[in-house]
Amino acid sequence: MTVTRFAPSPTGRLHVGNIRTALHNWMYAQSTGGRFLLRIDDTDAERSEEHYVEAIRADLQWLGLIPDAEMRQSQRFALYESRFAELVASGRVYPAYESAQELDLKRKIQLGRGLPPVYDRAALALGDDDRARLEADGVQPHWRFRLDHGATIRWDDAVRGPQSFEPATMSDPVIRRADGSWLYMLPSVIDDIDMGVTQVVRGEDHVSNTALQIQMFEALGAALPRFAHAALLTGNEGKLSKRLGSLGVDHFRGEGIEPQAVRALLARIGTSDPVEPVVDMAPLITGFDFSRFGRAPARFDEAELAQLNARILHQTPFDAVADRLPHGMGEAEWEAVRPNLSTVAEAADWWRVIEGPIDAPEPAEDDRAYLAQAAQAADRLDWSHDPWHALTAALKDMTGRKGKALFLPLRLALTGRAQGPDMAALLPLIGRERTIARLSAGLTA
Ligand code: GLU
Repeated sequence: MTVTRFAPSPTGRLHVGNIRTALHNWMYAQSTGGRFLLRIDDTDAERSEEHYVEAIRADLQWLGLIPDAEMRQSQRFALYESRFAELVASGRVYPAYESAQELDLKRKIQLGRGLPPVYDRAALALGDDDRARLEADGVQPHWRFRLDHGATIRWDDAVRGPQSFEPATMSDPVIRRADGSWLYMLPSVIDDIDMGVTQVVRGEDHVSNTALQIQMFEALGAALPRFAHAALLTGNEGKLSKRLGSLGVDHFRGEGIEPQAVRALLARIGTSDPVEPVVDMAPLITGFDFSRFGRAPARFDEAELAQLNARILHQTPFDAVADRLPHGMGEAEWEAVRPNLSTVAEAADWWRVIEGPIDAPEPAEDDRAYLAQAAQAADRLDWSHDPWHALTAALKDMTGRKGKALFLPLRLALTGRAQGPDMAALLPLIGRERTIARLSAGLTA
């Protein structure tokens, strides 16, 4: 069975980039009948905050990306400890004693000589005596994973195709700090093994981590998961934009964006499939395929999201929004105003237009007699079937008006606005009493 995981660090709110990663993981699990896990990467006690954990859960809930299970790295230290001990015993993890300043100096010297700043493995050359002396001097080691330089690291990435890295060109990664705390790299591998993750789906900023982590899977005797690294998002301007980092669920909600729109857009940008206004995820899930993902950065455009949101609302059934509509607003009202909405909140404006009182402009002098005739016609009308067409047909016969001269004064008097939903849908909802009153208002003065 497929198992994917979304592994955010609770050091901030989710932004559109990691929402997209969560979505990819969720969709892949859905499309294969697998499981989607949430792993809170909170090994960094200083930077992790509980309210961010709660916000991550709430954001995923709002987005409809419900994990099948949740785990937290901070509760799994015993497991890391035992697997770490295995790697120390097998010589794949070794203590290193250089201070940050020493390492920095080494890098500067290498760069100055035109060499790549790869860790020189000086700590591997230390004997037991050297280590004992350093530790007696109070130097606590940090720990590095020893890369096997024997063979090129290769994998076939589900998005990027065949990948290869030369381990000798990379530094042995630090996996544990001198104070015993864990860096991201090794716990993630230990967890992916323990959680049975079959597909690691993340952004391409992790590609070089994957090369290192592949050797960790192997050192721990585990089979490799498949990897899929999606190209990163860029802002509208085509640049990696700072703004994207501040766009998250709170922002979308504030703008009246529906989770369906966020999902429909993020599911398709950066792929060879078109963005489509779908309310239901099923067709997006069925067609989900990493081979449709492009290598070029995916462009995220807020204007496109707003448009998609409107097009999705235009198809959204009443039941899906009923609890967010003004009290008393029913299915017929929703369906009448829905084609005009950019956000659900705007439905309340049209509800006020239906219910009244409205603030209609003073009728033009030319239209006063016309509106009086309209009020009389409305009074005589059969309201049981399509009153708008009956009313306008009668007025056309009576006055010879047509087009804008026929319709606009009526719309203005009945809604107070020059534009809005189809009057044929609106008029039965405004109803006979209010129609007559609104057409006659302002005529007595
Ligand atoms: N916590 C890591 C991050 O947020 C997880 C990366 C991964 O998916 O392995 O970047």
